[in-house]
This record gives sequence, structure tokens and C-alpha cells, in this order.
Amino acid sequence: MAKKGRVFSGARPTGRQHLGNYLGAIQNYVALQDDYDCVYCIVDVHALTTVETTQDLRQNTFEMTLDWLAAGIRPEETILFVQSHVPQVMELHAYLSMVTQFGKLTDLPTFKEKVRQQPDNVNYGLLGYPVLMAAGIVLYKSDIVPVGIDQAPHLEFTRELVRSFNHRYNTKVLIEPQAKHTEILKVLGLDGKEKMGKSLNNHIEIASTPEETTKRVREMVTDPARQRKTDAGNPDICNVFTMHKIFSAQEEVDMINVECRRAGIGCVDCKLRYAANLNKNLAPFRAKRAELAANPNYIQDILHDGGNRARAIAEQTMIEVREAIQLP
Ligand code: SF4
Repeated sequence: MAKKGRVFSGARPTGRQHLGNYLGAIQNYVALQDDYDCVYCIVDVHALTTVETTQDLRQNTFEMTLDWLAAGIRPEETILFVQSHVPQVMELHAYLSMVTQFGKLTDLPTFKEKVRQQPDNVNYGLLGYPVLMAAGIVLYKSDIVPVGIDQAPHLEFTRELVRSFNHRYNTKVLIEPQAKHTEILKVLGLDGKEKMGKSLNNHIEIASTPEETTKRVREMVTDPARQRKTDAGNPDICNVFTMHKIFSAQEEVDMINVECRRAGIGCVDCKLRYAANLNKNLAPFRAKRAELAANPNYIQDILHDGGNRARAIAEQTMIEVREAIQLP
């Protein structure tokens, strides 16, 4: 069946993926493959803007690739590659930077946020981040970019940049990508307050063992009003219940919804039920991951092949870009 166009998306090499990554992004990546030609990039160059040391970059890239593949990314059809393996992106970044107004970059909320987060390391890469991101998207002549609400300004920035470039050089060589607005599920961490993330250590890695998973689930914060088993609870404000709704059968969800409110089920029991369902759900993923992990050369081959296919598209775009600029 003919696909509807090309999707591009990138993510930083953050190593083993957690439940928030899985529900918020990876499952969407997998589903998009049915309708689109997908280009998925592990953006290691972007990561350099914030990492303090690069010693984990390779291992993190490997672990993340394992998770993506085990979750259902199909490398025979999808191009899965590492950003730094396609140097053409740096070249396009340079050309796009010539049509980027400095004030636009300093005004972006993400830049201001980074300045707040790392005031001692406000490097040029942070400022130029959206330009490199735009270069990555348009290099592959992507039609569609899946975006959550917080990334929408960056995609709009990319679209403006494409218009500026095409106008400046009187060309149509670069394509304005369209946003595919996706409801990115916000998964809360074990604290039940903040978004799940490694930096807060409130996460559950999807590749954890069932025992580790259960241990982490037991740490989850529940309805704070439930001090004792005999206190009635409110599942509507409990993150364990939210997760039950994703991973447990409807019958069990309905039962907890009733029993929690009349103190008919304890939080420990409720959490153990969730852990069991989560482990059962992730079992095929974990089996596949273990199989892939036993063959690291295969993972390297996939990234190598993805890099080759990505470079072929990228170089063709750059031939057209250089021609449009009329570089000697
Ligand atoms: Fe949350 Fe379950 Fe405890 Fe109710 S019984 S407060 S839903 S963990």
C-alpha cells in the first residue's frame, strides 16, 4: 500500500527508555510506520549541547536502539540512524543559519529555559539548536513531523526558516514540513507529581526485570489521604489507578474504582496487581530485547545501514541546495 508521505522525528540518546518514553513517543513511532515512510534519528549532536561528559553516548545510543527495535521499529522499512553519521546536516545548518535572525533564537522559550537550567554553559549550540533541528528535518524532505504541544513553536520556526531560505534563493528546494499533532501522553513519575524522567529518578525502565519493576511500582505515591488500609481512597487522583487504566483489564479497573473508594482494596495489593499486569504486558518486548542484545553487531549493522540510506537522501538534497545558493 502506498504510504502517505515521509515522517521525520529525532530523540536524544538517553539510554534505556522508561515508561514515559514508551507510552509518550515510542508507541507512536511504531504506529506511524503503517502509514508513512519513517526516518527516525538519534540526535547525538544535539545531546552535546547539554551533556557534561560524552563517555556514555555510545552505550546510551546502543541501549536506546535496542529499546526502539524491541518495541517494534522495523529497520527494513524505517530509516533508523545516528545524527552524526550524516555530516550533511552540519552543512545545511550553516546555510540555514544565514537566513536566521538572531533575535528569533533568543526569543524562543526553550532557549530561555536552557539558560535558566545551565547558566554556566550557555554555549552557541544551545542557541543554534532550533536551526540544527530544522536542518535535520528538511534535509530528508520530510512531509510530516509528529509534535506535542510544547514542540509546536520549533516546528513553526522550521517552517519559517524554509520560507526564508526558499525566498532568499528563489527556489522551492526545501519543503515546509507539516505538524502532525499528537496527543503525547504525559506519564507521571513514581512521585505522582512530576513528569516521568531519569533526571528526577522517578522512572521505570521498560527493560527492567520483573522484580525491579515490581520494586519500583511499590515505591509509587498513592492518594495521600489514604494513611491506613481502612481509609477510603480516591482513585481519580492516584497515579497507580491511571496506570491501571492503561495496562489492566477493564474488569480489574472497574473493581479498583469501586473498592478503593470503600477501602475494599489496599494500596499494596493494588500496586502488586498493576506491577503484574505491567510485567505481563512488557514480557514480549523484554524477550525480544534480550534476543537483540545478544547480537550487538546486528544493532551496529542496522545503524550503519540506516546511516547509508539517510546519507543518500541527504546528499541529494544538498546537491540541490548548493545549486540553489549558486555556490561556486
Ligand atoms: Fe491508588 Fe489503588 Fe491505593 Fe486506590 S487502592 S489509592 S487506586 S493505589
